[in-house]
Amino acid sequence: MNPEKLILLVEDEPAMALGITDALAFEGYRVVHAPTGRQGVELARTASPDLVLLDLMLPDTNGYEVCLQLRRWSRTVPILILSARSQDSDKIRGLDAGADDYVTKPFSLGELAARVRAALRRVERATGAPALVRIGRAEVNLAGHVVVLDGKEEALTSYEVELLRLMLERAGEAIGRDDILDRVWGVQAINSRAVDNFIVKLRKKIESTPDRPQHILTVYGRGYKLVL
Ligand code: CA
Repeated sequence: MNPEKLILLVEDEPAMALGITDALAFEGYRVVHAPTGRQGVELARTASPDLVLLDLMLPDTNGYEVCLQLRRWSRTVPILILSARSQDSDKIRGLDAGADDYVTKPFSLGELAARVRAALRRVERATGAPALVRIGRAEVNLAGHVVVLDGKEEALTSYEVELLRLMLERAGEAIGRDDILDRVWGVQAINSRAVDNFIVKLRKKIESTPDRPQHILTVYGRGYKLVL
């Protein structure tokens, strides 16, 4: 059970909100609910949730905008998008707006609970990570979720920290997209193109020349490899 963990649910459909709230309460989480994007952002600031579940189709603001505002409040809190949309472009757009994971409706409440557990475990693992690692010119603080590259500081999400931990454990070795999905997202949550998108974002934080990467390399037909 997780009596300490607070989840913010931003969802306008009452039946959906009730079902999710009940399922998460059954798992031992506390849940605060906001029926609009504006209330969601306000509640995030006042209640400081450990994780956010965010519906994309909201009555006032769209979920992408809410996601950007939530990221201004916290650069590391796990944000899981809930949406009926299943197209890749929507997933990529959500991830670009700072979401960590994507659950497509209809989903089972059991699947959602598993996704929430995996996201919170990832945060706990990231918190207990070793302190500093140098990757090329980037100084990566895995515990602090921060990377400093050429004097410029950037926050890392818990998903990016987990991806880096995986790559560090297997440095010099090609890691397949399925392995990355399995380890970082815990389930086959998003498609392998989303992994590519995450790699692009991570390169911008780690690499001095992201379009000509020196450390996070593509291995054609195999996946990705970290070279220290
Ligand atoms: Ca909705």
